[in-house]
This record gives sequence, C-alpha cells and structure tokens, in this order.
Amino acid sequence: MNKYTPIIGLEVHVELKTKSKMFCGCSAFYFGEKPNTHTCPVCLGLPGALPVPNKLAIEWCVKIALALHCKINEYSKFDRKNYFYPDLAKGYQISQYDLPFGEKGLVELKSGKRIGITRVHMEEDTGKLSHQEIDGKKVSLIDFNRSGVPLVEIVTEPDFDNALDVKEYLEKLQQIVRYLDVANADMEKGEMRLEPNISLTTTPGKLPNYKVEVKNINSFKFVEKAINFELKRQEKILENGEMPTQETRGWNEDKGRTFSQRSKEDAHDYRYFPEPDIPPIVMTKDEISKLQEEVPELPDKKLVRFEKEYNLPEYNAEILTRDKLLADYFEETVKKVKDIDAKTIANWIINKKVDYEKVSSEELLKQITASKQVAAIDENELHKFINEVIKENDKAVADYKNGKEASLMFLLGQTMKKIGKKVDTNRVLDALKKKIS
Ligand SMILES: [Zn+2]
Repeated sequence: MNKYTPIIGLEVHVELKTKSKMFCGCSAFYFGEKPNTHTCPVCLGLPGALPVPNKLAIEWCVKIALALHCKINEYSKFDRKNYFYPDLAKGYQISQYDLPFGEKGLVELKSGKRIGITRVHMEEDTGKLSHQEIDGKKVSLIDFNRSGVPLVEIVTEPDFDNALDVKEYLEKLQQIVRYLDVANADMEKGEMRLEPNISLTTTPGKLPNYKVEVKNINSFKFVEKAINFELKRQEKILENGEMPTQETRGWNEDKGRTFSQRSKEDAHDYRYFPEPDIPPIVMTKDEISKLQEEVPELPDKKLVRFEKEYNLPEYNAEILTRDKLLADYFEETVKKVKDIDAKTIANWIINKKVDYEKVSSEELLKQITASKQVAAIDENELHKFINEVIKENDKAVADYKNGKEASLMFLLGQTMKKIGKKVDTNRVLDALKKKIS
C-alpha cells in the first residue's frame, strides 16, 4: 500500500442561465458580446446603486441544492466578501457565508462511494480582465459584462482520494445542472469552473496541515491531470522530509504542470459581514417542497428505470440518459409504436448516432421500419430482380447511360414492382446504379 493517501476536495462554480443578472436587470448573456455593453450602475458597483436579488436565480440555486440532497436553510442571507481586485468594481463580492441556501448534501458515485456536499451557495460572477499589448505597451483591459452574472458555488467535503472519482463527480454534476435546465455548464465558455484542493496524508482520515488549491480549471481532463501532477509533486516534497507549502496554484496545460500563484502569507482576509442592502431571504417549507416537486427525474434514477422498464443493457441506458433531451426523445419514440421494441429503438439511436434535433421520432421510426423490411429481402433475390429488369428494359438502360437520369427512376419503379413489397428504396437504387454503371 502507498505510504500517502490523497485527500481531495472540490469547489465548482456554475453560472446560471437566467436572462438577467443576479442583482440588476442587465442581460446575463455576455458571451461574445461587445465589452461593457451589458452594464448598469449596480453591476458596475457605482456608489449608491442598490442590488435587488434575482428570485429565479435563488430558486434555481435551491433546486441544485435539492438535487444534491442538501438540507435547505429556510432562513438565509447574503454576505459581503471583501476582495480588492480590479475585476470586482465594488471592492467586494456579494456571496453567502454562514447561511448558504443548501448544506450537507451528497452525491453517490458508481462504485457506491458517497461524496459529501458541504454547501451550495449563491454569489455573483466578476468582470473579466485581459492583459494585452497595444502599440508595444502592456495594458490590462476590463469587461464588466460578466460582472453580476448569477453564480452558484458547490463545495464538497475532502472525500475524494483519486482523480478519476473527481472526474466522475464533475460529469455527474454537469449532467444534473443540465437536467434541471438551470445552466448550460459549457466548460469552454467558462460556464463551469473547477478548483480542486489537494493534499497527502500519512494517516488516513486525518487532514494534514497544508492544502494546495488549483484555481480556475476549465476542463475535466485538465483537472484530472492537475490532480495527478500535484499528487506526485507533493509526494516528492514529503519524501524529502519537507512539507508542501500551503498555497494557490494555477494549471499550465502547455507545460502539463501546476505553478505557484499565491502563498499563505498573502492569503486574503475576506472579512465577511451581512450584506446591508439585501434583507435576509426567508423560504417557507411549502415553497421548498414546491421546488422539490419541480426537480425532474435525475440521471441516476432514469438510468435504473430505463434498464428495468425497457429491458436495456446498462451501457445503452447510460448513453441514453446522459442527456435529458435524448432520453426524452427515446421515450417519446418508444411510446409511438407497438411493433418495434424499445431495445431496437435504443440500438438504432446509439449505433446510428441519431441527432434528435434533426430527426423527428416519426422519421426515426420510418427509418427503422424501412431497414427492417429490407432485411427481409435477401441480397440474391434483389439482384435476381434487378437483372430481370435490366434485361427487359434495355432501352431505358441505354438512355440512362447516355445521361437521362429519369430513366433510372423508371428502372427503380420496375424493380420495386417486381419486389412487390415496401422496401428501402435507397438500397435498391444503390444496387441498380452499381449494376448498370
Ligand atoms: Zn447591471
């Protein structure tokens, strides 16, 4: 057994896809927009501007917490997190400290291992800094379009001991917020950002007195690599009889390594205090149970139901339930027919990689039916009919060879007549073309 046990926890930020921002009426769809066009005194942090919380965003945050089996605080509040940085115009971020919307939840992995969810809280996103060189001068530019976009932070207990479990958890979390239809969680757009904290202990169950946080990773693959890199790096330090520094590090994908950003000495003192401009948020039990009712059947449950109800192998049920819309499409198609079993439909969707946005369930069924009937006609039989048609229609064959496309259609019609039943015309047409040319 290895001398050291990894101890890993995660902080994940997910941007909600509400139309407006968290505390003002500005549009929250900032991606690709002209810088600083989605701003107002509130999200620019101008003096005297007052924040008004977005009710829908709070409800969605609570739904995420419910889906992660959290306890919901009926009484919660917003707090100011002081943080002096140019991308936060106010000099603080409105977040939640001791009374987040959700606490003490859990996520179960495939292995049955449970990951504790410490808290699910609501905050606002920051603006975006970009460092550029203009006319040989280094400048920092800032875009406040993202400032104030609703952001949910999901924090786990340090329950992971390997990078693969972290990846599974993250994929699951992404699926859940998409099932809830509250976030797109598109990693490339920065709509889901990951921060693992990593340390090694020699006594399992006992936290060491340091931890290393890797900030703002935007891919599941990178998070896996960053964790594995860190575990090796820290092990080396410990093996030398030293203690890794408690610090914040970044991930450099090109170099495939983490690098130091901030050490403990310049750790921030957030000096949280209750946000004086927003009254506490009180939710009744009825309001919470109404939101609970709105939580749809989640991927885990759906997968088990698909296996049982449609007699699908786990592999197929897993693929179909990865995306809620695909799962809905499958079920909708199954409900429309009696003579094609669910397994055939599932196989067809998976093997042909059917795009549910392009192929309606009616079209899909037509395709399956056509293929089934063609399967009933044997290859030799098909060629026998084609040969007969060619022999009997030598003029049409010659016309087609001379470029008269319509003659091919005539020959197809003749062949179909001989076959005498509905079959996949494309297959017959292909066979005809091959034979003539
Ligand atoms: Zn605004």
